[in-house]
Amino acid sequence: MNEQQRIDVAIIGGGPAGMNAALVLGRARKTVIVIDEERPRNRVTRETHGFLTRDGVSPSEFRRIAREQISAYPSVRFVSDIAVTIEGSDGDFLMTTEQGATYRSKKVLFAMGKKDLPFDIEGLAEVYGKSAFVCPYCDGWELRDQPLVLIAKGAGAVHFAKVVSGWSDHKVICTNGPDDMTEEQREELKRHHIPVFDSPILRIDSIDGKVQHIVLEDGTNVPCTGIFFATKLVAGSELPQDLGCRVSEAGSIIVDALGKTNVPGVYSAGDAATELYQAITAAAMGSLAAVGINSELLTEAWESVK
Ligand SMILES: Cc1cc2nc3c(=O)[nH]c(=O)nc-3n(C[C@H](O)[C@H](O)[C@H](O)COP(=O)(O)OP(=O)(O)OC[C@H]3O[C@@H](n4cnc5c(N)ncnc54)[C@H](O)[C@@H]3O)c2cc1C
Repeated sequence: MNEQQRIDVAIIGGGPAGMNAALVLGRARKTVIVIDEERPRNRVTRETHGFLTRDGVSPSEFRRIAREQISAYPSVRFVSDIAVTIEGSDGDFLMTTEQGATYRSKKVLFAMGKKDLPFDIEGLAEVYGKSAFVCPYCDGWELRDQPLVLIAKGAGAVHFAKVVSGWSDHKVICTNGPDDMTEEQREELKRHHIPVFDSPILRIDSIDGKVQHIVLEDGTNVPCTGIFFATKLVAGSELPQDLGCRVSEAGSIIVDALGKTNVPGVYSAGDAATELYQAITAAAMGSLAAVGINSELLTEAWESVK
């Protein structure tokens, strides 16, 4: 496969979504290029949980095993690069990359995940993925029964408190400024004996990624061994919009059950196209999108025979 050849499928993003799509398409004997910047959102964590047969594996080991298995299918090629432009239409898309390469493909799969916006709390980056997490389904078990702080406000804080109750009864809420709650919501939290601190957070103190306490501007020290918070996410890339893909208010590409977008020949899978942020969900979406793409390619080839 060289850069000028028109390959079957270009996959942008090589996380669980892109790699599972590559595996299924490689087994379907399609020529595939996976362009991957190699900066998945979970790179800050030591372990990935909840993925059957891989529970507790590190993100880098997950990637190593996946790449090794996909290497059995020679029509799949990985390039470590960033896709920066895309144009064209179904049957002939043209991508350029940061390193100056160009690739042409019949179909495109956007699997570039989402990105965290920079944190505005001092010390949060140091504990992110080590003792501060965003998803109790991913990391709640490791923090079970521990004293936790939930950084959230408004209805989101009440929802978070309810969900995290499944893992720990020892939790307080820090709203980091005005709580944005109704009287009813405050009463609800009181009924569940969950203290709420609304003083802005001055900083988070930690040792080797393990949070020790949260220091508030009013001088309060809130000791804890874990944090859950709602990170602000943006789309991993603007390229889908450049092709005319419809995107939801949450920044997810709108797709059907097989990952098809509103633009012919363009698919999306994984975090880029959902707000259910789980590696196994992303991988499953990648697999479904690969089936959708392969079906389309097979139909086109079948119908081209006159
Ligand atoms: C702290 C943390 C802990 C988590 N823990 C768990 C857990 O325990 N269990 C679990 O199931 N899930 C967990 N998740 C969620 C899980 O990591 C994601 O749902 C999953 O990685 C999404 O896979 P993806 O393939 O859609 O995107 P990603 O894994 O984010 O991969 C996207 C890839 O696309 C690349 N990319 C982006 N733009 C471009 C471009 N323009 N050109 C080329 N490449 C590009 C990125 O660099 C990246 O390599 C966690 C997430 C975080 C943030």
